[in-house]
Amino acid sequence: MEYEVVIGLEVHTELSTKTKIYCGCTTEFGGQPNTHVCPVCLGLPGALPHLNKKVVEYGIKAGLALNCSITKYGRMDRKNYFYPDCPKNYQITQDELPLCTEGYIEIELEDESIKKIGIERIHIEEDAGKLLHTGVGTLVDFNRAGVPLAEIVSKPDLRSPKEAVQYLEKLKSILSCIGVSDCKMEEGSLRCDANISVMEKGSDKFGVRTEIKNMNSFKALEKALNYETERQIVALEKGEKLTQDTRRWDDNNNITTIMRSKEFANDYRYFPEGDLVTLNIDDKWIEEIRETIPELPYEKEVRFVNEFKIPKYDAKVLTLTMSMAEFFEETAVLSEDAKASSNWLMGDISKIMKENAVWVENLKFTPKQLAELIKLINGGTISNAIGKKIIVDMFNTGKNPKVIIEEKGLIQNSNEDEIFKVVKSVLDNNGKTIEDYKNGRKRVLGFLVGLVMKETKGKANPQIVNKLINEEIKKY
Ligand SMILES: [Zn+2]
Repeated sequence: MEYEVVIGLEVHTELSTKTKIYCGCTTEFGGQPNTHVCPVCLGLPGALPHLNKKVVEYGIKAGLALNCSITKYGRMDRKNYFYPDCPKNYQITQDELPLCTEGYIEIELEDESIKKIGIERIHIEEDAGKLLHTGVGTLVDFNRAGVPLAEIVSKPDLRSPKEAVQYLEKLKSILSCIGVSDCKMEEGSLRCDANISVMEKGSDKFGVRTEIKNMNSFKALEKALNYETERQIVALEKGEKLTQDTRRWDDNNNITTIMRSKEFANDYRYFPEGDLVTLNIDDKWIEEIRETIPELPYEKEVRFVNEFKIPKYDAKVLTLTMSMAEFFEETAVLSEDAKASSNWLMGDISKIMKENAVWVENLKFTPKQLAELIKLINGGTISNAIGKKIIVDMFNTGKNPKVIIEEKGLIQNSNEDEIFKVVKSVLDNNGKTIEDYKNGRKRVLGFLVGLVMKETKGKANPQIVNKLINEEIKKY
């Protein structure tokens, strides 16, 4: 039988407000355990919550950017459960009246067609504390308790692990672009759970689904969904009955393992949160929030292709984060060479950033300095090869490329007489290679150019080197 996979994602994103959702404690990541706390977020008796208006604003902003309708008369609810990371023994969240409903994200399929993935709802809620399992026992840190979250629930519209990754990537880029979340998966500010089932291809009756938790990267998401698809198909083929389980992705062993079965599902006994007033959101405020939404990544992507004439692939990569998009745009305008700006950012600079775990916003050099480097190369002052060395120095020190060039004496040599001497000596010493060339192996030219560049420590103007070698080799 042929199968089709059905996936829906539940994404929790930490909203980047300065203070928590129901009290004035800081939301800053880390800190000494239990220092970002007060009676409200510790759930002490008698402490009363206040809803942070900024959290509602960010929730609405996310909803508008994701094409949702905003619920004007909403409320907060209690979700009751007992667990050591939840000090009140209930979480204040939204049940029947989520802040936003019925939105969508568009993803591009392999055949370049556009597919709409529905968003069922977005609701706001508080995060729980963190349990630290140590050798002596389990400790609890409530710094994260009360940090605001938006939970974004997709419809079961995704039909492959790849589509799920695309959806999450797009969601991440939109949320970080509008500034409601920093979406750092490694710090837990973007977390994703998946509901997944398989059904007979072409059927409209979904199979029994499992929920997968603990996927902390795009790679883990794709691997977990691929594994789970395969596991469910194998079980069905064997005639086994699938059960509605919650499973955990085990990144070390590349498998999903069962956490709990739905037979023991919690009854959360939701009821309205009596300590908070109902939400009454007026159109004027919604419109004011709409005004604050900047150009979105996919809009930017289209504009970059049209305005800067860079390939679609480049535009896609450069608009994955707002900071990268802005860095590119400024560099492209100042250097008047968009393709070179894109190449540097996607190539050498991304590589160095990755190696050093540095974000674009923490780079020591500015778009203006990168534009200057590009202009120095385009103007023939330095070669591209030297540029690659300079960018490392710029990354480490933030110095201007001109300063580095002067300090290290890296100016490109375009003196034909001087280069001629080196070319001549290289040719004189490589008779065998010249023979190869005469026997039709034209590629050896590159090798000879390399030798000259090496001899001149990368400073010779490559165009002149190429020209001279081409001219001189014929004389042998
Ligand atoms: Zn607090």
